[in-house]
Amino acid sequence: MQKIAVLTSGGDAPGMNAAIRAVVRRGISYGMEVYGIYHGYAGLMEGQIEPMNVGSVGDIIQRGGTILHSSRSEKFKTEEGQQEAIAQLKAKEIEGLVVIGGDGSFRGAQNLADKGFPTIGIPGTIDNDIPGTEVTLGFDTAVNTVIEAIDKIRDTATSHERIFVVEVMGRHCGDIALWAGLSGGAESILIPEVDFDMKEVTYRLLEGNKRGKKHSIIIVAEGVCPAAEIAQMIKEEAGLETRVTVLGHVQRGGSPTAFDRMLGSRLGAKAVDLLREGQTGKMVGIQRNRIAVVDFADVFSGKHSIDLDMYELGKSLSI
Ligand code: ATP
Repeated sequence: MQKIAVLTSGGDAPGMNAAIRAVVRRGISYGMEVYGIYHGYAGLMEGQIEPMNVGSVGDIIQRGGTILHSSRSEKFKTEEGQQEAIAQLKAKEIEGLVVIGGDGSFRGAQNLADKGFPTIGIPGTIDNDIPGTEVTLGFDTAVNTVIEAIDKIRDTATSHERIFVVEVMGRHCGDIALWAGLSGGAESILIPEVDFDMKEVTYRLLEGNKRGKKHSIIIVAEGVCPAAEIAQMIKEEAGLETRVTVLGHVQRGGSPTAFDRMLGSRLGAKAVDLLREGQTGKMVGIQRNRIAVVDFADVFSGKHSIDLDMYELGKSLSI
């Protein structure tokens, strides 16, 4: 394989640039020509395909977001859109594609692979919701962003002796809430995977008050319900006033942590190796801290599960 391309698709995530850099430089180290496709599948269908060199990925490993930009495209889900995409790749004699994105992006990649175009996926999303890999690119940075925010909220919570309800991202997955809640010392962590009992949440708050506790922080994953609803429930259940903070898109940005830079570098290089070996229709992920190669089909049929031991640990430590 002499010519390959890379694109980023769906929500951006810190560490995507490290992965792009690794794809480009690994490819070049094999004597390949490597192209960057701008604006995801939308840009691919329009032919926004530019040659990359060693220098074009210089000074990006530390940057959040994606230098290739990202997009969502309904047209790419159609047969016509996919044929246009393949025609654009073929016009440039590109023989393989690395797609960095989430589950939806992989479905698009699988469609290209089904049409005979070699494609490898790298899981890039802060949500950590992709089956077949224990961690996704951007998750670690997002968790660190959240705990930085929790630490700051804790200062004001302590000063004013207040209860804060903090809503974090993750869509249907509770991992950001769980990891950030545990490492940020939250009093309660509410995640979509486990039903919560509001009586237990308020009991913890009231017991804390009795012990003279100066502040409390409750982390709620966006997949549970809006934080404002939790605040209302606490008021109705225990008559306690709370302050609500919705962290929002700040969680998607920022300079990637060392972990995400490493992850992007490892997965990017491996994706190129797989294309070179003639593999297709697969995701590169991490299992037991080693690189794992997983068929897209298994990613789609799998289910990401949270670590219940960690959830219980969070409960037992926040007494
Ligand atoms: P994130 O988790 O950050 O949202 P994602 O990759 O899951 O990332 P999506 O919006 O679901 O984000 O998908 C990105 C793009 O991939 C879509 O805009 C579309 O172009 C393509 N895509 C999604 N689902 C399919 C599908 N079933 N078939 C073909 N292409 C798809």
